[in-house]
Amino acid sequence: MSKTGKPIKHLPPEVINLVAAGEVIEHPASVVKELVENSLDAEASEISIEIEALGLGQIRVVDNGTGIGKDDLIEALKRHTTSKISEITDLNNLSTLGFRGEGLYSIDSVSKLSLKSKVPDSLAGYELCKDREGLFAIRPVGMPTGTVVTVQELFFNVPGRKNYYRHKNHIIKAITEVVTNLALASPDIGFRLKVNDKVTLHVPKGQDTFSRISYLLGEDISKTLLPIAHEETHFRLQGYVSKPQGALHSDEFQYLFVNGRPVKHPPIVRLVKEVFGSLIEVKAHPVFIFSLSVPASMVDANVHPRKQEVLFINSDFVYNNIQSALYSVLGLNDLTYRKESFDLYADAQDVHKSNSYLASSLKESTTTWNYKLNSRETPLEVLQIHNLYLAFENAVGMTIIDQHAAHERILFEDFLDQFKRDKLNIELIEKNVLVDVPITLVPLLENSIQTLSKVGFTIEHFRNNTFKITLIPKIYGNHDMKALLIEFLYELEKSNTLKDSDQDSLKTISYLACRSAIKAGDYLTMQERRNLVEKLIKTKSSYTCPHGRPVEVELSLTELGKMFKRL
Ligand code: ADP
Ligand code: MG
Repeated sequence: MSKTGKPIKHLPPEVINLVAAGEVIEHPASVVKELVENSLDAEASEISIEIEALGLGQIRVVDNGTGIGKDDLIEALKRHTTSKISEITDLNNLSTLGFRGEGLYSIDSVSKLSLKSKVPDSLAGYELCKDREGLFAIRPVGMPTGTVVTVQELFFNVPGRKNYYRHKNHIIKAITEVVTNLALASPDIGFRLKVNDKVTLHVPKGQDTFSRISYLLGEDISKTLLPIAHEETHFRLQGYVSKPQGALHSDEFQYLFVNGRPVKHPPIVRLVKEVFGSLIEVKAHPVFIFSLSVPASMVDANVHPRKQEVLFINSDFVYNNIQSALYSVLGLNDLTYRKESFDLYADAQDVHKSNSYLASSLKESTTTWNYKLNSRETPLEVLQIHNLYLAFENAVGMTIIDQHAAHERILFEDFLDQFKRDKLNIELIEKNVLVDVPITLVPLLENSIQTLSKVGFTIEHFRNNTFKITLIPKIYGNHDMKALLIEFLYELEKSNTLKDSDQDSLKTISYLACRSAIKAGDYLTMQERRNLVEKLIKTKSSYTCPHGRPVEVELSLTELGKMFKRL
C-alpha cells in the first residue's frame, strides 16, 4: 500500500445491493414496468396501476392473476428467485422476457415494498410486511385472487432522489409510455392507470387491436394506419404501419413486440425506414405497431435486460419476411396524399395554394415589422434557384440565402419581440377544432397551454386526450392545427427544457416560426423575393435560423475571382 493511498475495503452488502438495484430500477417507470410485467406473466386479465407523488410517494399495481402462494411470498422478494425458469435448458426456450428473478428484490432494496396475494385454491390472501427491524411478517387478509404490490418511498435511500421532482412531466410521461407500450402489446388485457386519483388511461380487456391503438395513439395517427400481416413457418407478423403521409417527425410511435413483449431492435426500425425510402421526408419516421411471433428459441433476450433489446438468432430470415410484408402493403394500397385526411406535407405539394398563403403571410408580417435603419440595401433583382435559394448582388460580391431559414428567422424575431413585450399585436382568428393527441403527450401539452397562449393560441384540455383549440394567430389560418400541435409537442419534448420556462417559450416561438415559414420548394414571385430579402436585412441577426443553420452565405468578388482564376 502506498503512503498516500487509501486502504481498499470491501463494499458493505447494502451498498452492493443498492448499486445492483440501480441497474434495474433507475426510474419510477422501471418499477411500473417490472411490476406490470410480473402481472402479465401471472396471466392477469386486468391490471390497475396507481401512482402518487410521481411514483416516489407510492406505486401500486393490482392484478387478478394467478397469485403467489403463502409460502412463496418471502421467496419472491429474494434475489435470483423466480418461478419462471428452473433449469439451464429452460433458458433456450423462454416464453417470458422477464426472467431475471431480481425485479421485486431490486425494488424492495430501494423502497418500502409490501406484497399481498391470493391464489385461487386458498380461501384467504396473505400479506407480507416488514417490521421495523426489517423482519418479515405474514398475516392473512381478505382479497380477491390476484396480487397487490405496493411500493412506497421509492429511492428513499438513493442520493439525488429530489432530482426526480424536477422532471415532473417526464416522469409521468415515462410511466404512461410504459403502460401504453404494454397495453399495445396485449390488447386483450385491461389496463387502468391512475395518477393522483385521476384515471388517465383506461382500456378494457378483450379490446380489438385497432380500437386500442386509436385510444392510445389518437385518431389522427390511427387513421393513417394500414394493416399488415405475413405468415411463414416459424414467423408471424401482425400489426399496422402508417401510410407515407402518416409518417411523423418523431420516432416515438414505432412499436415492436416480440412474442407479446415490447422490445427494442434498431435494425427493424432502419429496415422500415429503408423500405419507405423516398416516399417520406428524410427526417420523417413511419408509425408502426408490429407484433412478431417467432419460436422462443430464435430470440436472444439477454443482450440488454433493462433496455429490452433482443437479437434474432436467424436475423436475415426475420428481416426478409418483414421486408416483403412491407413491400406488399405499400404496393397494394393507395398511398396518395390526401389533404382531408392528414395535412402534414400537403402544402409542399400544392404550389399555388402555398403561394397565396405566402403572399398573405408576408403582407401580414410587414405590418407589424419594426423598421430598423440598415446600411444594406434591398436588391432590385433576386434570382430564385430551384425554389430553395435566393441569390442577389451586394456591395462586395453576392449573397445566397436559404429561403426557408430566412423566413424562419424573420418570423422568429417578430414573435420574440411580441413575446418579450408581453403584447401580442398579431391578428387572431377563431377556430373550433378538437385535437386528440397520443396519450403520452397529454401531460406535456397541459403544461404548454400557458406558453402557447402567450403567442396567440387559446387551447384547453377538453376531455381525456382531447384538447380544444378556440383561437389562433391568423398567420396559421391555413395550417392543419392537429399536425401543428402534435409536431410542436415532439419538438418541445426533444428539447427537454421543461424545467426552464424561458427556454420553453423560446423553443415554442422558434418552432412556430419554423412551421409558418415558407418552405424549401415554394416558388416566389420577384416581389415576394424582394420582400423576404428586405425583411431579412432588417432582422437583428440574419446569419442563422432559430435552429442554428446558416441563413445566408456571402461570396465576395475576391472569392469569385479566385474561383475563376482571375486573381
Ligand atoms: P422474475 O419476474 O424475473 O421471476 P421477480 O423478482 O420480478 O422476478 O418476481 C419473482 C417471482 O415472484 C416471480 O417469478 C413470480 O413467481 C412471483 N411474482 C411476482 N409478481 C407476481 C404477480 N403479480 N403475480 C404472481 N406472481 C408474481
Ligand atoms: Mg419480474
